[in-house]
Amino acid sequence: SDAEAREYVFGRGASLEFPFAVAVKTGTSQAYHDNWTIGYSRHVTVGVWVGNFDRTPLRNSSGVTGAAPIFHAVMLAAERRAGGAASDPNDAPIVEPPAGLEAREICALSGQEANASCPTRRLEWLPADGPRLPCSWHHLSDEGLLTIYPPPYETWARETGHVTPGPATALSEIAVPGARRASAAPRVSARAAFAITNPPDGATYLIDPTLRREFQALRLTVSSAAPGRVEWRVDGRAVGVSPHDGLLEWPLATGRHRITARDRSGREAEASIVVK
Ligand SMILES: [Zn+2]
Repeated sequence: SDAEAREYVFGRGASLEFPFAVAVKTGTSQAYHDNWTIGYSRHVTVGVWVGNFDRTPLRNSSGVTGAAPIFHAVMLAAERRAGGAASDPNDAPIVEPPAGLEAREICALSGQEANASCPTRRLEWLPADGPRLPCSWHHLSDEGLLTIYPPPYETWARETGHVTPGPATALSEIAVPGARRASAAPRVSARAAFAITNPPDGATYLIDPTLRREFQALRLTVSSAAPGRVEWRVDGRAVGVSPHDGLLEWPLATGRHRITARDRSGREAEASIVVK
């Protein structure tokens, strides 16, 4: 299975890493009634369910802390007994990639097809007949590698130190093989426009009943605010303030909401969302 996708949730070196290929899926039922881990190697299939027979909820347990460590031990023992021992890295994959997908090299930053200048790349499974837009964020200029963030990401890029202020390079000076120069145009005009960058207008969010509520807050951010405080309202009620280049966390509440932001110069921006 996809080690990088798993790492995000479970961490590396966790109980779902094996010295041979294993396809694995974990699950936690709502409100922690029970959890399970099921998977297979080339030689064996292992399923582990952890729960109380009377359906009372488990305490402090998810698929990772409950069934997964047991799955790990059983899978190692079963594979050893089946004679699988160490599998050969040259073995054919145990899961055939779905038809119509192919491993493509994408830019780790933009997610677009990597161009010759993209510094960090990774392989991702994508539709073979999908669009192949080359990365429009990375450009090679006379001064070296240049990263141009589209407007929705400018605030994030500043906050995370991805952008250091410096002399702007006119796009016409940049040689970009295959990239669309038009992508630079909205950036200039968006400078002046005050807008909510998160949440995107029209977005829908789902509250996950199995996750702690304090992890389920929405980050409210704006772009191009006048320096100073930004006042936030949800459905007309003040919910807090953020620095113009910072964020405010708003705990998700179910329903349809209109979020408005107002910067120090009095400009307003709004976005509507649905939380289920
Ligand atoms: Zn790139």
